[in-house]
Amino acid sequence: MSRGLTPLLWAKAHATPSYAPPPFVVSHGEGCRLFDLDGNRYLDFASGIGVTAVGHAHPRVVAAISEQASKVCHTSGMLLHEGYASVCRRITEISFADRVFLGNSGAEAVEAAMKLARRYFFDRGEARTGFVATHNSFHGRTYGAISLTGQPKYQTGLAPLLPDVSHVPYGDLEAMKGAAGATTAAVIVEPIQGNAGVRLAPDGYLAGLRDICDAAGCLLIFDEVQTGIGRTGKWFAYEHEGVAPDVMTLAKGLGGGLPLGAMATTEQLGQTFQVGVHASTFGGNPVACAAGLATLDVIRDDDLLANATRMGALLVESVQALDHPSIREVRGRGLMIGIELDRPAGPLKAACLERGLLTNLAGEKVLRLLPPLIIGELEADEAVSVIQASLAAM
Ligand SMILES: *Cc1c(COP(=O)(O)O)cnc(C)c1O
Repeated sequence: MSRGLTPLLWAKAHATPSYAPPPFVVSHGEGCRLFDLDGNRYLDFASGIGVTAVGHAHPRVVAAISEQASKVCHTSGMLLHEGYASVCRRITEISFADRVFLGNSGAEAVEAAMKLARRYFFDRGEARTGFVATHNSFHGRTYGAISLTGQPKYQTGLAPLLPDVSHVPYGDLEAMKGAAGATTAAVIVEPIQGNAGVRLAPDGYLAGLRDICDAAGCLLIFDEVQTGIGRTGKWFAYEHEGVAPDVMTLAKGLGGGLPLGAMATTEQLGQTFQVGVHASTFGGNPVACAAGLATLDVIRDDDLLANATRMGALLVESVQALDHPSIREVRGRGLMIGIELDRPAGPLKAACLERGLLTNLAGEKVLRLLPPLIIGELEADEAVSVIQASLAAM
């Protein structure tokens, strides 16, 4: 009998039925591998949806977590600990930003960005409260974030949403020009749409958004919750186009598996968050910050940005070379990759899992690969072999 049966039954009976029945119950992980309670081994190309950037149980992350946990686990914003200051400083060293607010998740980072934008214009006496986002975007599940999210399926039955939000097609600069105006506080865009199916914007899109926001006098927010922290082969995806936003949201890879999110911005905008304007009891938790710092260290010291670029190119080329008639497109940047089929991708995901490769879906027809940034050629080759066999079996 499977050792996973009891937790599955208990979850079925006692947890809200929020998640689809899982394919297995996790025992532990090591590097790019996950193990279930029966000892089966999986190659993890999902990374908990792009979170475990340096793999599972990385020795440097584990050491940082346990050392911090043995000292102090929580302070709240009432007190300062070294990790909070260090994470803020590190983010400013590797990005356009000068000021950082730490939270626990992507949605919280988005909420912080929304509050910052409205409050900034309020303080200046400018009547700017609107947001413009894009169709098919994903910004999280809290009320502000689902109001920005451009996918009606996440909004069903939850109205009324936040007013003053409009949506335009992703990649369409003309439409954005028409929507961003005198009452707009901010435009928010993912540099690459992740949840929508790894959708890349046309060249020049981010630069065009910068010009539009400057002309309209509103802020530009890049939601880098998924694309940030090395996922696309640079620390942040905006670097590919050489344009900086006014505000950037981060989470997923930042904490190396622990809950850590950030809203990063410029000196001038950062002054908006004066004492009392925004706060989070758990935000920038000492253990999460220790894990985040260790993760950032490993990415830098092991040259994982270059590795993500190289392995990503290898994966895209190898899957393209399979030249399978059901594959419509293989696309991505670094290790954020989408394989779009001419049919629902669920059966391909299931076939991969049967062969020990864990992936996830993004949109009905797209198999999304978000492996840890530490994968080598052996793991890439193994994944491509599994995908090839799974396509044949589909
Ligand atoms: C995952 C994601 C979020 C939400 O992050 P949570 O930590 O789940 O709240 C927001 N924006 C983007 C682009 C994401 O991919």
